[in-house]
Amino acid sequence: MNIHEYQAKSLVERYGVPIPRGGVAKTAEAAEAVARELGAPSYVVKAQVHAGGRGKAGGVRLSASPAEVRTAADALLGSRLVTHQTGPEGKTVGQVYVEEGVGFTRELYLAALVDRSAGRVALIASAEGGEDIEEKAAQNPAAIARLVIDPDEGFVSASADALARQLGFSGVQVDEAVAIMQGIYQAFLECDASLVEINPLVVTNAGDLLALDVKMALDDNALFRHQDLEALRDQDEVEPTEMEAKRFELNFVKLEGNIGVMVNGAGLALATIDLLKHHGGAPADFMDVRPSATRDQVAAGFRMLLDNPKVEAILVNVYGGGILRCDTIAQGIAHACRAHETKIPPVVVRAAGTNSAVARDILVGQGIPVAFAADMAEGASKVVAAVKKETV
Ligand code: GDP
Ligand code: MN
Repeated sequence: MNIHEYQAKSLVERYGVPIPRGGVAKTAEAAEAVARELGAPSYVVKAQVHAGGRGKAGGVRLSASPAEVRTAADALLGSRLVTHQTGPEGKTVGQVYVEEGVGFTRELYLAALVDRSAGRVALIASAEGGEDIEEKAAQNPAAIARLVIDPDEGFVSASADALARQLGFSGVQVDEAVAIMQGIYQAFLECDASLVEINPLVVTNAGDLLALDVKMALDDNALFRHQDLEALRDQDEVEPTEMEAKRFELNFVKLEGNIGVMVNGAGLALATIDLLKHHGGAPADFMDVRPSATRDQVAAGFRMLLDNPKVEAILVNVYGGGILRCDTIAQGIAHACRAHETKIPPVVVRAAGTNSAVARDILVGQGIPVAFAADMAEGASKVVAAVKKETV
C-alpha cells in the first residue's frame, strides 16, 4: 500500500527525521489558511497523489504568498496530474500539502529498502538526489552507496557515519545524517514498510539536513498488525475493481489488454500472462484465485471479467490440487454466466488435476461456449486466436 507524502512525512517525523512545517488541504481556501498559519516567507503547494515525478509535471508549485498558495491549490485540486509514473490517464488531485518554502544548497537521495540479493534491509544513498535520480544513477552507478544492515547487529552508527562521510558530509551534518538514517531504518522496520525514500534530502541554506520529499510503501501482508496505518489508505487512489476483488479474496491487478485471465496460484498466473504475451496476446488482468475459494468467490471473479468492457475473450487456467478442485471453478463460472445478461465472450478453459472431468461436464452441461485446452500452451494459443478471429 502506498501512502501520501504528507502521511509519510508525519510518520518519519516520529522517528526523528526533520521535515518542513506544513499542512494538508482539500480546498483552495483551506490551503490559504494553512499558509497564513505557517506565516513563512514563501510556500510550496504539492499535489498529493501516489506517484513520483510531480515536480516535472507541474504538481509542485512555489508560491510567494498565501494568496498565491490559494491560486496554486485552486489550479491543482480536482485536476488530473500526469507524471511519468501515473500512466497516460494521470491521477486526480484530491488534496494538496502546503509547506513553508525551503532554500537549499544540496539535493541528495536516501532510502531504506529490501536488498533482494542480500536478503536484508539496506540503506541506499546518493550524493546526487533530486528529480533525475533514475538517469543520474544509470549514468553513474558508482555514485550510489549502499549499506546493508545485518539484522542481528542492527543499526551500526559507525557504518552510517562512514556512509554520511561518503556523501560528502562533515562536522555536525554527519550526526544529522546518521540520525536520519537511523530514523528511516527504524520507521521501515516498525511500520513493516517495503520502501522509505527521501528524495530530495536537502542541505538548507542554514546548513541543516531536511527531508523535502518522503515516499513510503507499506507491506500489504503486514497491514493486519497496523490498524493505524491501514487507516491511511486513500480509497480514491485504489483502482475500484481491485477493491471489489479484495472483497472476494481474489488477488487481482488490472492490466491493459483484452484477454480476461483467471488462474489459481500467483506463480501460475504470472506464467500464464507470460505465455499469453508469448503468443501475441494482451492480458486484461492478473487474477489469482485462492486455494480455499468458494464457488461464489470464483463466480464473483468471473463476473468481473465478464463486466470488463475491454475483455474480448477469457482464459481460465487452473490446476486443481488438494484444496481447490476444478469442479468448484466450473460451478463458479457457470453461476456467473447464468446471471450474465449480455453475450458471453469466447471462453477457453484449461482445467487439470482433481475433478477436471467433472468440471468439463458442468460447463458443457450448462451450454457455456467453452473451448477446452489440454495444457497451458494450447490454452494461450486458443484464446489469442479467439481474440484475433472472434471465434474459438
Ligand atoms: P516529486 O517530483 O514527486 O518527487 O516531488 P518533490 O517533492 O521531490 O519535488 C520536486 C522538486 O521540487 C524537488 O526535487 C525540489 O527541487 C523542488 N522543491 C520541493 N520543495 C521545495 C521547496 O520547499 N523549496 C524549493 N526551492 N524547492 C522545492
Ligand atoms: Mn521527490
